[in-house]
Formats: sequence, C-alpha cells, structure tokens
Amino acid sequence: MGKSKSFADKMSKANQDNTRHCAQCGESVTTVKMITSEKVEDTGAWKFRQNFVGICKCNEKDIIG
Ligand SMILES: [Zn+2]
Repeated sequence: MGKSKSFADKMSKANQDNTRHCAQCGESVTTVKMITSEKVEDTGAWKFRQNFVGICKCNEKDIIG
C-alpha cells in the first residue's frame, strides 16, 4: 500500500541531503556528528558539545587524523 514507495522516497531524499560537494576540492562532503569536550575553567567540570561537521578532502586529515 505505497509503503515501499514512501520508503524509496525517503531513501532518495536522504541521499540528496547527504550529497553535498565541496566548492574547493569538488569531493562529496560527508556530514558527521562530532562530540567535543571542553573543560570549564571555573568549575573544572567537562562539558560536551555535539557538532555536525562536514568532512571532505580539505579537512579530513585535521578532523580524522
Ligand atoms: Zn573540500
């Protein structure tokens, strides 16, 4: 009953959303969720932040190492 169709629609939409191309290197950009930690000077506690970062050839070495 249109279940497979909507699934296919979702897939194609997700693919489109995930396919961005870098203006600098022309490679496709992969978006990943990065969790960074930083120490709060005042309390000495660690704070965690979630960031969505686009990775391509330009910065993959910096981010992935
Ligand atoms: Zn790039």
